Amino acid sequence: MTTRIDGHTILIGLMAYPIRHSMSPTMHNSAFEKLDLNYAYLAFEITNDELPNAIEAIRTLDMRGSNVSMPNKQKVIPLLDKLDPAAELVGAVNTIVNDNGVLTGYTTDGTGFMKSLEDENLDIRGEKMVLTGAGGAGTAIAIQAALDGVKEISIFNQKDSLWENAQRNVAIINEKTNCKATLFDLSDQDTFKNEIADGLIYCDSTGVGMKPLEDLSLVNDPSWFRKDMIVYDTVYAPRTTKLMKVAETAGVKHVFNGLGMMLEQGAEAFKLWTGEDMPTDYIRDLLF
Ligand code: NAD
Repeated sequence: MTTRIDGHTILIGLMAYPIRHSMSPTMHNSAFEKLDLNYAYLAFEITNDELPNAIEAIRTLDMRGSNVSMPNKQKVIPLLDKLDPAAELVGAVNTIVNDNGVLTGYTTDGTGFMKSLEDENLDIRGEKMVLTGAGGAGTAIAIQAALDGVKEISIFNQKDSLWENAQRNVAIINEKTNCKATLFDLSDQDTFKNEIADGLIYCDSTGVGMKPLEDLSLVNDPSWFRKDMIVYDTVYAPRTTKLMKVAETAGVKHVFNGLGMMLEQGAEAFKLWTGEDMPTDYIRDLLF
C-alpha cells in the first residue's frame, strides 16, 4: 500500500474508541488499491473529549471525510454543518463527507442492512419485521427499513437505558413514515413468539451472541421460526451465533450474520467519498 501513497493522496479517517480491531481500514484501503484511487483510510482512537479537535482537523487537513463509531456517533452531530435526512431521523452519524470545508453527516448502517438483503435477492418492503434492540444498530435498521417501505415493525427491548430510545424510534417511524411501529417489552415472551410467527424477518441488533454474551440467544426454541422466513443477526464475530444455530436447526432458509451489513455500510460510505462503487465481491472474497 505504501507504494501508492504520494503527495496527492487524500486522507479518510475512522474516529472511535476503541477501534484498533476494526476491519474498515483493510476493507477501504483494499478497495482503493483495487480501483487505483489515490486515497488512504486510517483509524484514529478518538474519545468524546477529543472529538471537536478531530472534526476540526478534517477541515484543516482537507480530509475527504471520516467514519465515526462509538462513542462518537451522536456526539458528532453538533460539530457538523449539515445532516442527511436519514441521519437526522436516526439521530446518529457514521459517515462524514467534507465538501470544501462543509461537513455533512450521513448514516449508512441502515442502508447497508437493506442493501445486504437486496444482495441476497430478498425484498422486505411491504412486509413485517420483528426487531430486537433499539441502540445504534437497531435504530438505524428500524428507521431505514421504515423509510424504504417495510409495512410493519415490532420492536422488542428490555426495560433498560435504551427503552426510551426504543419509544423515540417507534414515535418517529409512526409520525414520519408509512410504516406502523409498535414497541413491546422483551420480557413478554408469548407476544415475542407470536410476533415472530407473524413476520417475514426477525432481526437481532442487541449484540447478544457476541462477547461477553457468546453462546446466548434471545430465541432458543427452533419451533418459533418458520423455514420460509429470514433470520438476521447483526453480530459478525463469531461468524455463526447461537441465534443462527437455532435458526439453522429450524431449517430456516435465509440465515445471516452481520458481515453483509458491515460490507454494505462501508460500500455506501465509499460511494459518498469517492463517487465510485466499492468492488464488494472482491472485498467479500478477500476479507470474509
Ligand atoms: P447499543 O449498545 O447501542 O444497543 C444495544 C441494544 O441491545 C439495546 O437496545 C439494548 O437494550 C439491547 N440489549 C443489550 N443487552 C441485552 C440483553 N442481554 N438482552 C436483550 N437486549 C439487550 O449497541 P449497538 O451499537 O446497537 O450494537 C449492537 C450490535 O450490533 C453489536 O453486536 C454490534 O457489533 C452490531 N453492529 C453490527 C453492525 C454491522 O455492520 N454488522 C453495525 C453496527 C452494530
